[in-house]
Parts: sequence; structure tokens; C-alpha cells
Amino acid sequence: MDNAPDPIGVLIVDDEPRIRDGLQRVLMPMGYRVIATGLGKDALDLLAREEVAIVVLDLQLPDINGMEVLRTICRHYPHMVVIIITGFGTVQTAAEAMRNGAYDLLPKPFEPDQLRIAINRAREKMLLEQEARRLQQEQLQTLADLSLEKSRISTILKALPIGVMVTNALGEVVLFNPAFKRYMELTEATAEGAPLDVYIQDDALRRLVMEFSQGCHIGPDDSPTYEFSIGQDKFLFARGRPVLGDNGQCLGAVVTIVDITAMKVLDRLKREFVAKVSHELRSPLSTIHEQLAVVLSDLVGQVSPADEHLLSRAKEKTQGLIALIGDLLDLSRIESGAFSETPKFVHMDELLENIIAFLGTRAAARHQSITLQRPTGALPPLKADPLALESIFGNLITNAINYTPEHGRIEIDLQVHDAHLQVQVRDNGFGIEARHLDKIFERFYRVKNEHTRYVTGTGLGLPIAKGLVEALGGRIGVRSQPNEGSTFTVELPLAPQST
Ligand code: ADP
Repeated sequence: MDNAPDPIGVLIVDDEPRIRDGLQRVLMPMGYRVIATGLGKDALDLLAREEVAIVVLDLQLPDINGMEVLRTICRHYPHMVVIIITGFGTVQTAAEAMRNGAYDLLPKPFEPDQLRIAINRAREKMLLEQEARRLQQEQLQTLADLSLEKSRISTILKALPIGVMVTNALGEVVLFNPAFKRYMELTEATAEGAPLDVYIQDDALRRLVMEFSQGCHIGPDDSPTYEFSIGQDKFLFARGRPVLGDNGQCLGAVVTIVDITAMKVLDRLKREFVAKVSHELRSPLSTIHEQLAVVLSDLVGQVSPADEHLLSRAKEKTQGLIALIGDLLDLSRIESGAFSETPKFVHMDELLENIIAFLGTRAAARHQSITLQRPTGALPPLKADPLALESIFGNLITNAINYTPEHGRIEIDLQVHDAHLQVQVRDNGFGIEARHLDKIFERFYRVKNEHTRYVTGTGLGLPIAKGLVEALGGRIGVRSQPNEGSTFTVELPLAPQST
């Protein structure tokens, strides 16, 4: 297939056949498609039918005045390039022709080269204008696309049920959607462009959004989230991501807000239900447990060993259930904040010694050693609920005993740092594989392997310890190597020194 562009059409309008032929002879070898006529009326008819880009027009025509033909052409075909050829080339004619829209004027007689130059210039002008029109069209299209895209995005944003807010690098709000306005309880008149505190009353959230906007959290895993409430009964959850430019520079942030009130209510109902059921089950189970113990001791030697085994198993199981209920009640007390209600000054070394004394018999039965290392001299007291501290370290030391084989070593190390106490509970026991380390603080999570199979437990000890440590404003962490042992580290803030 021939893909060459169609030759450009040139119309020659001149009443002298000699000139028409001469022009044709010059233009056709240049690759133009040439048509010619001697009449102005024919010329206008041809223009209506044929594809023509350039007109070479004589002003002296037998039927219509050439100037009139020029005016008609320029009015109906504004992109047409017209070159005037006239033997009566006066300055006045030239000026009038130009005023009427002619592009060039070639006084007769002229040399073929002069014609070639004039035609080439006309062609160049035509092509340049064509290109300019194409670019303008493209630009209009791009603008239309952009505005369509913008209206699409704005429609999507408006329809989104989650709140969306966009900030610039200065932390100013450049965009937000109606859901954001609704969640944050902003007035109808609130508009974009103001500083953050106009939109966000919560100080911590404002700080976080500022950090996102200034590029403090650009790592793929560095995306802190934040839960907050508006009023008494509206709970919201915020998540942010920085907006990065081509060079990785932070241009601002996108913050999304989700309403989690329903989840919170469900969670509270679930906790209340668990607490109520646990509470209701505790006393009958304790009674059953005690009665089983009485029956077992009364029937010693009177029942078959198989029956005695059955009763012992039933007693063990009720003991396990009582422990589980105790843990569940502890958890619901932590969640309701009851544990941190009665803080007292506590001497940590004494508290740890008491726990070690209490659990020492269990360790001794497994031939394990338990030691406490503490700094010399008086320790600053810690202000906390002693029951909470007993529960935290009771759980950690019980775990160390349970998950360390016989003849193992358990070391408790107490240290004072500037503003906090650090307690490490170290064992040389079974250890924990890395893949379980971040999960063992979740409720009911238990590592299942050949070592832990025979250890009874609820999977609630560490969540209780973590909940309590956090309620006291501290932190808990773990390091562990399978078959080498584990170290649980608790840091608790010290009470301000009393004067
Ligand atoms: P439980 O001991 O009742 O199973 P926890 O919440 O106290 O529940 O502990 C969760 C899991 O963490 C345990 O099942 C155990 O697999 C693992 N774990 C806790 N402490 C230790 C430890 N000192 N050494 C090895 N594994 C441990």
C-alpha cells in the first residue's frame, strides 16, 4: 500500500492560457496537484469541489473582479493560502490584496524560480499553520481530558464513605471530602486552605498529620495509625501516607479516617459478655472443683484405679477452667482500667523476692534455679498497683519455669535507669522461634511444638502482662533463640521522686 501523503492541491486562476500552462509546467514537477481555470466563477466552483490548499490568483479576470474573488475565498476558506499575480502591480493593489487576506504578491512577468520560491513559502506557511492547529486541538483535548479526570476524581472522593484529607508539606489542608467533614463535625462553611487546627482538634492526631506531611514516615512499613474519639460516643481511626514527588521528596500527606464506633460498641459488648459469663461460671466451677477434691480424698482405696484416674482428670480440668476464667476476668479488669485505680509505692526488689519465694517451690520441684540480681543500695519506689505488678511478673516467671526443662536456670535482673525500672526475666529454656515472637502477646496464642505440648496454659498470660505494663505506662519486649532461652524485658516509668 502506498502511504505517501496526498499531493498538495494548487488552483491557478488566470485568463491567459499561456500563463496557466507555464505555471502548470513549473508546479507539476514540484509534486503539486494542479488545476487551472480562466474564470473567477469557475474558480469558486472548483474550490467547493476540490481539495485545494494554495491559490495562485490573477486580479484581472474577465467575469468577476479578482479582488472580489480573493475576498470570497478568504471569507469561506480562512486557511487557504493565496498568492496574487498581477501585471498591474502597484503598491496600492498590493496593500489592498494583503488587507483582503492574500499571503503574497508576485508581479508579472516573473521568473519560474520566483514562482517556486513563492509557492514553497506558501506551502511552508500552510504546513506551519496546520501543525499549529493540530497542537491547539491537542491542547484543547488534554485540557478536556484533565477536567474530565478532575471531575471523575472529585465524584469518587465525594462518594467515598471514608473521610479523606490531603495536606501540603506545610501541613495545610488542600483537599477533603464530605465524609471527612462529617466525621470531624466541621461546619458546612469550612473550606480548604486553612491550617490543621481548624479541622483537627485532637493534639496527637494533629502532630501525626504534621509528621506525615513533613515526610517523617515514608518507609513502607512506617505507617503509624491513631484511634481517637469525638465526643462521648464517636470513635474514629486515622491512617496516613506521605505523597512523594518524582525525586522522592515529600509533597504532603493523604490521611484517611474510618468510623469504628460500631466495632468499639461490639467489642465492649463482647467484653461485658465474657466478663459476665466468666463471673457466673467461676463460683459453680470452684464448688465442683472443691467437691471433686473431697470425693477424691474420701474415696481413696475404695474405687478402682481407673475411676480414680477419671476423677483426678476431672479435677485437673476444672482447675484449668478456673485458671482460664481468672485470666479472662483479669483481662476485662485491665480493659476497664480497674487495675490502675489503686496505685501505691512499691519496692520492686521486695515484690520480686516475694514472687520468687512463692514460685520457688514449683521451680525446685523441677530442679531449676531462680536468682534475683538487683543493684546495691536503696531503690527508688515505683508507684503502681501491686496486684498488677504481681500479675505481670508472676506470669513471666511462671512461663520461665514452664518453658524451661528440668535443671534449667532462671535469672531475674532488676536495674534502675534514669526514669524507669527495668526487669528482665531470663531463662535458658526452649526458646521461641522468630515467627511467633510478635504473636505471643495476642490473646489465646500458644506456640505448639514438642516442648510446649505438655504444658497446660490459656494463652492469656502474656496478653495480660502486656495490658498491665501498658496501663502502667511501660513497655514489654522479648528476645529469644530456640533451644537457647528467652529474655522478657519490662520497663516501667518511675514515680516522680517525692521531696
Ligand atoms: P500460656 O503460657 O498460658 O500458653 P502465655 O500468653 O503466657 O500463655 O504465653 C504464650 C506462649 O508464649 C506460650 O504458649 C509459649 O509458647 C510462649 N512462651 C511464653 N513464655 C515463654 C518462655 N519463657 N519460653 C518459651 N516460650 C514461652
